[in-house]
Amino acid sequence: MNAKALAYKIISDRKEQAEETARKNSEELLKDAEYYALNSECKKLVFEIARLGSQNKDTGDLNKKYSELSERRALRMKELGKTPDDIVPKYFCPVCHDTGVTSEGDCACLKELVYRIVREDASVPGNGMSIPEAAAREEAADNPELSSLYKLLLRYVASFPEVRKIYLLSGPVGVGKSFAAGVVAGELMRQGHTTLFLGANKLNDRFLRYHLADLSAKRELFAPLLEAELLVIDDLGSETLLNNVTVNYLYNLLTEREFPTIITTNLGEKELRNRYTDRIFSRLMDAENSKVLKLNGRDMRLRKGLSRGEKK
Ligand SMILES: [Zn+2]
Repeated sequence: MNAKALAYKIISDRKEQAEETARKNSEELLKDAEYYALNSECKKLVFEIARLGSQNKDTGDLNKKYSELSERRALRMKELGKTPDDIVPKYFCPVCHDTGVTSEGDCACLKELVYRIVREDASVPGNGMSIPEAAAREEAADNPELSSLYKLLLRYVASFPEVRKIYLLSGPVGVGKSFAAGVVAGELMRQGHTTLFLGANKLNDRFLRYHLADLSAKRELFAPLLEAELLVIDDLGSETLLNNVTVNYLYNLLTEREFPTIITTNLGEKELRNRYTDRIFSRLMDAENSKVLKLNGRDMRLRKGLSRGEKK
């Protein structure tokens, strides 16, 4: 089941659950003879008032009668240990009433769920650390390179989404790039931005699935990549290059995406150009749209505490 189908399933389960609970509560109340009688009377009155109203006829004291009866009904309900809220479905999403759609298309609750499902696919590095925490950690570890990186990332998050389209974090293995990208992703997620953190391998798998999928399934595979407010492509260069797939779709993704992307890579400029061709390379290096952050990570291996939640 793909993420969207799964999200629909979850949403329709929510709906069913909410309606089932309301129905059960209502049934329980109706087992009480007094409540049942009052409820029937109220219903009859509502109908009568509506009928007279539609014929522009005077409703007399029916409204008054109705308020009296419905007050008694509410009282009986209370005596039976229930509230009016118990008999209307408590929908998880007040906007779409757990249908997943609005007149404008997919409801925000559905989108959010799709992203959450996709995101849960991958574990995001960063240990849920905030940027100030990460900056302080690097400062304490006397690592000027990373502490200045985090200062810059703090500004990135503060200006988000008004930031450069592509941030390329490059540098050797173990320098803390993925961790930093994960910290940014976590920070933006907490702010409610839809964020997709994908290892290059996972991204490549998705490209392949997209390549092989029939037309109807294609959109669902590509759309989250385009629509996530932040996309992180982690460890670009670690994936297996697939003919007609990797480079093509990566190029499409980078040209079609309107939201910011962060890419981490161990590859240097020359390797990037060789591997991904000139058209992707110039996209990555385009001074107007991209920012390249090179970390050299000298003495990183000697730094203590590197193993704390740090993979690469
Ligand atoms: Zn909704």
